[in-house]
Amino acid sequence: MKFYRLSTDEGRPKKYAWAFPTYGYPTQTVECDICGRSWNTFENIFDKNISFSITFTNNHFADFIACEAFHMTNQSVKNWCESNGISSVIFTKMPIIGKSEFTKEALKSCRERGYNTAKFHDEKPVYYMLSATVGAKLHPDSGVQWVDKGDWVCPHCGYGVGYKKEDYGKPDCIELSSWNGNDLFKVREYDATLFCTEKFKHMCQDARFSGIIFDEIVAK
Ligand SMILES: [Zn+2]
Repeated sequence: MKFYRLSTDEGRPKKYAWAFPTYGYPTQTVECDICGRSWNTFENIFDKNISFSITFTNNHFADFIACEAFHMTNQSVKNWCESNGISSVIFTKMPIIGKSEFTKEALKSCRERGYNTAKFHDEKPVYYMLSATVGAKLHPDSGVQWVDKGDWVCPHCGYGVGYKKEDYGKPDCIELSSWNGNDLFKVREYDATLFCTEKFKHMCQDARFSGIIFDEIVAK
């Protein structure tokens, strides 16, 4: 049984478009009486169905495109998943801001953040943020641990609490006995990363989807 991590193909020689959040991810501020911290936690856009808008960096669109650590897909991939019975997948339709809707100040701010605003445009193809249900956990050999105590962690408000990669020398590895049989899935430890089976990889390759590559990951 082979498993793969979904990664972005950036496109060569012409780079594919990628998307970025126009106003950043939705966050919630936590004020903690116990540790005295004030910090921002990311809202889970998939659980709460919160949408934030995106903009494309150019208009060379692939079937799969990157949006920071996440993947987005177009309507053909969504239709393909539905007609092939891939039910573990979650699609969130994204509002899109076109170049002409930006104020001069907003474009200036994008330039200051390092974006080439000359390539922004007004095309708005439908794209969905892609996620999947949890279908496995990582093997203990992956070096990812649940952290809930230590000097900098606050179990009261949850600051610093969660799964952390403790040892980057250890490659991620799926615990085979925990896998639920889904062809596309997340692991318990990571929010954004998607994994798939060899069957899903071959199906995507047969469909000739662009913008996606598959990195093999060990399972034991
Ligand atoms: Zn706290």
